[in-house]
Amino acid sequence: MPSATQTLPSFMEWKEVDSLVGSIRTRSLVARPTNLDQCRETLTYCRHNDMKICPRGAGRSYGDEALNDGQVLLDVSAMDRILQFDEDKAQITVEAGTRLIDIYERVHYRLLTLPSSPTESHSTVAGAICANVNGKDAWRVGSFADQVVRLSLLTANGETIEIDRSHELFNAVASGIGLLGIVLDATLQLKPIPSPYLRVDRFPAPDVDALLETMARVEQTHDLAVVWVDAYARGKKTGRSVIHAAKWIEHDATEAERKAYLDAGYERLDKHRRLGLGLHEAFGPVLSLMLYAQRPMLHVFNRLYYAMSTFAARRGRSSNTELFLRFSFEASFTVPPAHLVCGSRGYTVQLTLPRSSAREAIVELLGICQSSPCPPVTAILRAHRADDGLLSFSEDGYSLNFEFHPKKHNEAASREAVDRIIDATARRGGKIHLAKDQVMRPDQFTRIYPRYKELLEIKRRVDPEGLFTSDLARRVGLTPS
Ligand SMILES: Cc1cc2nc3c(=O)[nH]c(=O)nc-3n(C[C@H](O)[C@H](O)[C@H](O)COP(=O)(O)OP(=O)(O)OC[C@H]3O[C@@H](n4cnc5c(N)ncnc54)[C@H](O)[C@@H]3O)c2cc1C
Repeated sequence: MPSATQTLPSFMEWKEVDSLVGSIRTRSLVARPTNLDQCRETLTYCRHNDMKICPRGAGRSYGDEALNDGQVLLDVSAMDRILQFDEDKAQITVEAGTRLIDIYERVHYRLLTLPSSPTESHSTVAGAICANVNGKDAWRVGSFADQVVRLSLLTANGETIEIDRSHELFNAVASGIGLLGIVLDATLQLKPIPSPYLRVDRFPAPDVDALLETMARVEQTHDLAVVWVDAYARGKKTGRSVIHAAKWIEHDATEAERKAYLDAGYERLDKHRRLGLGLHEAFGPVLSLMLYAQRPMLHVFNRLYYAMSTFAARRGRSSNTELFLRFSFEASFTVPPAHLVCGSRGYTVQLTLPRSSAREAIVELLGICQSSPCPPVTAILRAHRADDGLLSFSEDGYSLNFEFHPKKHNEAASREAVDRIIDATARRGGKIHLAKDQVMRPDQFTRIYPRYKELLEIKRRVDPEGLFTSDLARRVGLTPS
């Protein structure tokens, strides 16, 4: 660890910082600035002490994207003020550390929404921009960067740059995993909605062809969609799934009534978050033990879930009205998130697949999963469209998100299967979501993200000393180790 040659500012301290699932343990000098001056002070401190910086939002990326072992983590979560809300233009300007859920609390009852919100509502705006995240509406509205009107960036030399969509840095900062500087604030374009309610329709699909046919229809008729895929169904049933598709609807209520039911919705969301975390605390080890019988257990559970969905659809009971908040954010906590149940050995892989070869790719990837000694606990599919971010993961096509829970005895074999999944994705022209990755190798990264060269070219100009880095950037060879 570098020795400090300048007194440690009061907002900096050495701390243990683990990855989300606890599989990566680090110790970093964490700076938690509350303003621009303190951000600049951190830059100066790092330069004097020959230390590197990784900006960090809420730390809700799964792997090592927001980690910087032995170096400085600049945590922007205390810079979380809403600076301006222009209701006429439907735009909101917020500091980097503002959480998405805080924006919802401010605008949703005014019949506005923030498109491209990921399931993790506690993600910060800067984290969402720099990982260029996406939501269940990705094929319609694109990725998070598509909602950004402008942002300001603090660069390594202490200057702040104003970046709008036409600026040459825009597509490098958005998706650029914090390698060009510190996002300080951003203005986001919101979208008007008829009400905070959705009609949710569930369509069971017996195989991959039915899944893709239904998705093609849903992409025309609905606004949001997420698909539960039975990763255990084989042969003709490969790709068996249930498509959850949603559409914004009218819902008569006064503003005060809307505020009241939305406040109850936030409370419920919070309760579910705590319940999910509490379940993990209380039953994590038991659930983890139960997962030794993962294959038969999930085989039965998945069959039951699919059968119940088909039964409901036949009886015309597969639609309901639900708050967007619930549809978009609650899912991952209704069943305690696999990454919590899985414990430190668990990991997530999300990959995109081009539309043109989606069928073959889905069959191949599910086949790799099934041949693994430890198939994924969950498999989720979504539709996407491409965007211009240099390290964006979105494609015109579909993504599959797998949550794995290897045990000690099959950890190596499970990793080998994940390696095959990453190779197959690269071969098929797909991408791996960096915010969820912790295993990709440099050779895989360069095949998957050929535009990294453009990012490095820009970085040489904006950050010539290479002040900004992260454990992920070093792991995949983007910055020197
Ligand atoms: C339960 C769960 C569900 C999720 N669902 C989705 C989903 O639906 N879709 C999806 O795309 N992702 C999803 N994610 C991933 C998550 O939304 C992203 O990782 C998001 O980036 C996390 O935001 P954060 O504020 O925690 O960022 P962090 O994890 O702290 O950082 C993410 C990246 O942004 C950079 N960064 C952060 N702040 C700054 C800054 N001020 N300046 C410059 N760079 C910065 C970091 O260096 C890092 O590279 C999910 C995660 C969880 C835990």
